[in-house]
Amino acid sequence: MAFAGHTDVVPAPYPEQWSADPFTLTDVDGLLIGRGVADMKGGIAAMLTAFEHALPHINLDDFTFYFLITSDEEGEAEFGTAEIMEYLKQRDEVPHYCIIGEPSSQSKVGDVIKVGRRGSVSGEVVIQGVQGHVAYPQDANNAAHKAMMLGRWLSELSWDEGSKDFLVVSYKSLA
Ligand SMILES: [Zn+2]
Repeated sequence: MAFAGHTDVVPAPYPEQWSADPFTLTDVDGLLIGRGVADMKGGIAAMLTAFEHALPHINLDDFTFYFLITSDEEGEAEFGTAEIMEYLKQRDEVPHYCIIGEPSSQSKVGDVIKVGRRGSVSGEVVIQGVQGHVAYPQDANNAAHKAMMLGRWLSELSWDEGSKDFLVVSYKSLA
């Protein structure tokens, strides 16, 4: 069984908008406030604590536990979970179960446990236009307009049908 998590965090460009300094772990009425606490250092702390409690009750001859902790998850990750999974596959070691401590709660901790994990698709799009003078719009082709049409098309694309654990949220239905 594996516990998977990441230590990297997203930027905090406006610390003045936080209820406490994001760069100092602060206890605010029992809630720990700090950069990356929710996503997902709190999850790693919970996993380590759970493992510490479980350890005396586990026969390690029967189980292998993995802590798959990457610092390359947020943004365009290259050397995170995908790299770890490739490494484990080469060693013919693939965990049967994996618990990921990502934040999934709606209103209080633990009220939602997700089964599975959403995927993601990344890519790079180059949109080329043709520059021109405003007096001769027929000779120009505005790349920003093309980008907006692409954005609309992508937002209306149906990627899959969802499942009982993963709803499909279409931007059409939000409009
Ligand atoms: Zn995360």
